[in-house]
Amino acid sequence: MAEAAIAALDATCAYCGEIMTRGEMAAHVQLCTAHRLDALLSALVQAAPDYTSVFEPFLHALLETNEDGDRATAWLSHDPRRWRFMLASYRRHFEDNPQLKLLLETGWVRETNCKAAEQAGEPDVWPHIPQASSGEPAPELWPDADGHLVSHPARWPMQEEGVGFHQQGLLSQNPSLFESLKRMVADWVETRRQRVEQLGVEEAQEEAQERSQHAQAGMRRAQLQDAQAQQAQLVVAQEEQEERVQAQQAQVVAEARARVRGGHHARRASSPPREALRELLHVVDPDEQPQVAPTLATVLPYLSLSLTLTLALVLTLAQTVAQVQP
Ligand SMILES: [Zn+2]
Repeated sequence: MAEAAIAALDATCAYCGEIMTRGEMAAHVQLCTAHRLDALLSALVQAAPDYTSVFEPFLHALLETNEDGDRATAWLSHDPRRWRFMLASYRRHFEDNPQLKLLLETGWVRETNCKAAEQAGEPDVWPHIPQASSGEPAPELWPDADGHLVSHPARWPMQEEGVGFHQQGLLSQNPSLFESLKRMVADWVETRRQRVEQLGVEEAQEEAQERSQHAQAGMRRAQLQDAQAQQAQLVVAQEEQEERVQAQQAQVVAEARARVRGGHHARRASSPPREALRELLHVVDPDEQPQVAPTLATVLPYLSLSLTLTLALVLTLAQTVAQVQP
């Protein structure tokens, strides 16, 4: 139940931005060109200057073998303008050369490589098109328009024993196009490196910012706790002060009572200790109401004053009524 609910939630592909359900994401990742391109670019940067991951799908696209279409689609989406330009340029070059034109015919490269492997007793690796096992050939010297000998990138031998056609042999048949193709891939690698670096810097900055925000929040929390502690101390101090004042007041009252009773006792001569104790207990007896007499004494003057005022008012009213009546 819970799993079904989770699978029904919306999800967005981080690579292509397509919106789907979470349940559909696993299948999408397998198909997502943007996702594949990201993985391909990472691997390309790791493997550079080995450009096999580009050369192989490029050759399959050139020879129209219907192999390696996923990688070709990913690279096309990465740099459509240059990918299409390089592909069209190579195709033109192959079509213009009678020998190379044969290779564009379906299955010719595949058949050659299969036979070469078979003769060498090696396994058939198609659709893999291997790299040249020999190093880069020495540059060739050719005269330019002014009659000066200029060094040019050379072609690799097209085939190798036990392999048949290989990447460099096919692609270097037009050395200047091969240089352009390598430059295109080198640019991709460089751009990717810079972006990863930039992202790394931004990530580090974000992390640093987050850390400082955490630290500030911690500091504010500590300050708040300090303030609360001070407040609590202040409250305790106030309470203690109040208790002290109350104790002093109680003592003053007790002393005053003791003085009043002391005079009384003096007249009655010495009282036995038990009597003194009772007196002492009497002082703190909560049932005793010594406040009644003082309260009455305090209220009486106000009572008499208000009576006087009421009398005066009544007299004034009576006088006024007498004056108004004819
Ligand atoms: Zn996607």
